[in-house]
Order: sequence, then C-alpha cells, then structure tokens
Amino acid sequence: MEEALTTIRQESILDLRNAASEADIYQVKSKYIGRSGSLTQLIKNLITIPAEQRAVVGKLANEIKKSIEAGVEDALKCLRENKKQQAMGRVDIDLTLPGRCQSLGRRHPITQVTDEIVSVFTELGFQMAEGPEIELDFFNFEALNIPKDHPARDMHDTFYISAEVLLRTHTSPVQIRTMQQTKPPLRIICPGKVYRCDSDVSHTPMFHQIEGLMVDNDISFGDLKGILTLFLHRIFSEKTSIRFRPSFFPFTEPSAEVDIQCVICRGKGCRVCKGTGWLEILGCGMVQPAVFRNVGYDPETTTGFAFGLGVERVAMLKYGINDIRLFFENDLRFLSQF
Ligand SMILES: [Zn+2]
Repeated sequence: MEEALTTIRQESILDLRNAASEADIYQVKSKYIGRSGSLTQLIKNLITIPAEQRAVVGKLANEIKKSIEAGVEDALKCLRENKKQQAMGRVDIDLTLPGRCQSLGRRHPITQVTDEIVSVFTELGFQMAEGPEIELDFFNFEALNIPKDHPARDMHDTFYISAEVLLRTHTSPVQIRTMQQTKPPLRIICPGKVYRCDSDVSHTPMFHQIEGLMVDNDISFGDLKGILTLFLHRIFSEKTSIRFRPSFFPFTEPSAEVDIQCVICRGKGCRVCKGTGWLEILGCGMVQPAVFRNVGYDPETTTGFAFGLGVERVAMLKYGINDIRLFFENDLRFLSQF
C-alpha cells in the first residue's frame, strides 16, 4: 500500500505539471482526491490493513492528500497570473486593416498670401526686412512724424507696455530702423505682425501688415503708381481696375489710398463694396522730408515712396472670406480649403 501511495504522489505531481487549463487541474484533483479518486479510495481501504501499519500509512496518505491540495491551489494561482500577464501585454494585430493615413499639413492662408506678395516685390529687387514687435514709441510714432500730441495717434488704438514701450501698431518702424542703418538707394519689403486694441468681423487685435519702401535720388509718384499697379494686377488680375485717391498720413506727402474694382460685383455695386464698386486695398505716398531728416537722410537729394497694406484684407478679398476671425480660430475645416 505504501508503494501505491508513492506512485500516486509521483503521478499527481506529473499530472499537475502537464495540466494546461483550469479544467485540466480540476480533473487532476478529482482523479486523486475527488469522491471516487484513487487516493480517496485508498484511504477508505486503510481499514483493511493490519492495525499496526495503519497509523503510519494513514499519516503518509494524509500528507499526500494535503500536498495534492496545495499543488492544485498553486497550479490554479500560477495559471491565473499567467493569463493576467498575457492580457496586459497582448497586442492584437490585424494585418488586414488599412493603414492610418497621415494627413499632410499646409501653409496658413495668411502665410500663403504674405509669401505671394513678398515674392512679387523680391522679383522687383526689393529685399525683405524685419523688426521687433515690441517697439519703442520713437520708432512707431515719433520718427514717423507722429509726435505725442498728434491726432493721428488716436486712430492707432495702441497697446502700451509703458509710456515709451508699445506693441507696434504698424510695420512702418521697420522702415525707420532700416534707413538708420543703410544709406540710399534702398528697396525693402517688410511683412510682420502688428497690434491694435480692436476686435470685430473686420478687425482682430493682432493682424499682419506688409510695408514697402523705395528710396533713391529720383523716385517719383510715377514710380509708386507703376509698381503698385503692377503688384495689384499680379495679386488680383490683369483686368482689375485701380484708382488712387488723395489721402493723409503723417509720414508721407502727398499721400494716397488705393482702391481696386470690387472683386465680388466687378464694379456694379454690392454689399461688400457698400454699393460703390470699389474696395480700399492699401495706403501709400511719397516719404515726408521730416522722416528723412529723422533718420539722417538729406531730403533735398533723397526721394522715395512707401506703402502699407493689411494681409488679412487681401486674403479676404482674394478668397471671398467675410469674417477676419476665421483666420485665427484654427478650424481645420476652414484652413484645409487653401
Ligand atoms: Zn461690390
């Protein structure tokens, strides 16, 4: 009988080692220590052996029973732990699924229009110039012939940081900075962000301007007209009519505002052009002698013209956009159309 017990012990260990599922483990359990398991039967038969052997064999049988019970518990624990580990680390790969497309980014419409405008002028020999967005009052106003008490300051809705420091309200300070460092002749184009305390369907607190400046000793209003006409024909179309209207800016004299034929109604009159058939597109003029004096140029021998335009305005007219705020909301449905 002791021999039979040893066999049960060895076989049960082997069986548990080979059990691959919970069902297998329970089967091993019932095979040996279930109601009709071999060990259970053997324990029942202890009564048939001589009393003097019964105590020893009975003790051994109980030990084996306990070790099988412990082996079953261990095997179950081990199996459940393995399953948990597998579930955590498992990656289901379905090779038949189509791959994920990476959508390509594209340039913002404001950047596209800026690049287009700048490229027209670089073809004409203008060089790109840039300046700081946090600017001194001197460069933004004083040097441009807009002293502290000048009424033109009211039009600018300036963000002041301190009495002398502000967020530039136009790109014109770049002209001053460039002229201070460079002797004429000079042809520059200055794109950049500008800031004004204003917000509605056609104004945002930050917007983009492009400023141009051409200085030499014989620049006339005819040069200004020729270059700006060529530029507007390139940006809109050759057939676009253009008109120059007298205007006022403290840093140019004479000054003009330039209108293009309404791109929506082709001059017939509509809501966008307020029935006039014309749309204001840029401001320009011959550089004020006072500005030349402020940067150390001799106004007797130097002439030049300057102009400035809003990039958002050009983009809105070019693409028929009716709310300037769309440019800054970063809605991909809007941006992906360009
Ligand atoms: Zn119109």
